[in-house]
Amino acid sequence: MSRYSRSLVWLRRDYRLSDHRALFEACAHSGEVIPVFVIDEVLLKGFKNIRQVQFIQSVLDDLDTRLQERGSRLLVVRGNPAHAIPELAAKLRVQAVFLNHDYEPMAKLRDAHVERELRKTGVAFHSFKDQVIFERREILSGGGSPYKVFTPYSRAWLKALESNRAEHLKEYRPDLKKLVSKDLIRDRNARFSELGFPELAGGVPSDARAERKVGEEEAKALLKRFSKSIASYKTDRDFPAIEGTSRLSVHFRFGTISPRQAVRFCAEHMSEGAKTWLNELIWREFYMMILDQYPHVEKGAFKPEYDSLKWEWNREHFKAWCEGRTGFPIVDAAMRQLNETGWMHNRLRMIVAMFLTKDLLIHWQEGEKYFAEQLFDHELSANNGGWQWSASTGCDAQPYFRVMNPVSQSERFDPKGEFIKKWVPELKNLDAKRIHWPHEEGGLFSSGTQGYVEPLVDHKEQRLKAIKMFKKD
Ligand SMILES: Cc1cc2nc3c(=O)[nH]c(=O)nc-3n(C[C@H](O)[C@H](O)[C@H](O)COP(=O)(O)OP(=O)(O)OC[C@H]3O[C@@H](n4cnc5c(N)ncnc54)[C@H](O)[C@@H]3O)c2cc1C
Repeated sequence: MSRYSRSLVWLRRDYRLSDHRALFEACAHSGEVIPVFVIDEVLLKGFKNIRQVQFIQSVLDDLDTRLQERGSRLLVVRGNPAHAIPELAAKLRVQAVFLNHDYEPMAKLRDAHVERELRKTGVAFHSFKDQVIFERREILSGGGSPYKVFTPYSRAWLKALESNRAEHLKEYRPDLKKLVSKDLIRDRNARFSELGFPELAGGVPSDARAERKVGEEEAKALLKRFSKSIASYKTDRDFPAIEGTSRLSVHFRFGTISPRQAVRFCAEHMSEGAKTWLNELIWREFYMMILDQYPHVEKGAFKPEYDSLKWEWNREHFKAWCEGRTGFPIVDAAMRQLNETGWMHNRLRMIVAMFLTKDLLIHWQEGEKYFAEQLFDHELSANNGGWQWSASTGCDAQPYFRVMNPVSQSERFDPKGEFIKKWVPELKNLDAKRIHWPHEEGGLFSSGTQGYVEPLVDHKEQRLKAIKMFKKD
């Protein structure tokens, strides 16, 4: 690679300063480096996930503050990156743009466009693997094609890691002294609110970092907290009333933690729990590889034969599911947790997704879209993978005849009904036996259920209908 006097590092989903491949490479090959973020007006047209926008805004504010403390700055502009990046490159007289790969179909088109535009003006374009340990076609089956089934993929992934651990888990420490002086950048930073997105209520406090941790610092704090419970992850991870998982998903989504750091952390805390957690990180990469190599999943079933399934549509049922009013306590508790906090426990994501598709017989894409609008951690690859797994239309999905019973799932994974009581206060006086199914023929139990709703459907009947729908196809 040549040496450049000045370069841009274009941040997209990697809002951190440590263990950052593109930033590392830019600093290593340039005299001066300018970090930039573009508020993408094309991507944000019609974008409904306000939680994610506010998360990014607060992380960018924090990153800018930290860079200013070092005498530098984060430059934030808005526009179509295909024009904004080449324009910035010309205005700031940079010779190269550094960035990390993105695997989403829209992002790949955008990056190809930016690369073409830059090359026209002789500006170099360098993109790197950063958000995964293995990408694209690095993990292939014996036949040379990308895997469609998780278990052999994960075995091959682990084997590849062991073949050169030091290289794959290398820490990329950028030489931050190369970051440009803040005096060079005079423009005021753009904000998402200029596109009509609401600012966080009360704004991000100026002493945010002292009061509450943001971005990279928060991710580090969560990892530290998780180090105390990772050993019991294997046993605790399925119980929503227990804080048994890392809660790092939004940080993986926006790159406020590096995947290499997470895998090194597993090795440092080796236990059965850490092995199970590593397996979840591999699921993350599996679904990213699936989206990258089989991009049709974004628009339809992984198995195209399931695109013709005759799903039903009932607006009232869908609304009741969204609002947590289905009459199935575990489903309602989960949906209310999502609506209130923007996060839902993994076991519950599977339960509510299967309930929407196999009990209400509503198309998985409706649920996928609702999650995309609500989840802080919304990630196209994992969300699509999770929905297609639950709907039995995906790669390595749950077979269509294995339909989860929401009541027995509730008895098994929330045995005392603690999680339900927290989110469905109408049921807080019920005992551990009745809370999972507070109904009897002719209506609700008379005491302790005031304000709760009757079940929308009969699970046994709907399960048979769902199986019939798949068989017909
Ligand atoms: C229907 C459905 C939709 C989902 N949508 C998303 C989504 O939009 N974004 C998202 O990050 N995850 C999604 N998941 C996966 C999983 O539910 C979340 O990653 C997890 O609940 C996040 O909590 P955590 O960070 O405490 O996870 P932990 O249990 O601590 O796991 C660590 C990390 O591994 C990754 N991970 C864990 N489980 C999975 C999985 N099954 N698939 C892919 N990656 C995984 C996440 O990055 C997670 O942060 C979905 C699952 C289902 C069934």
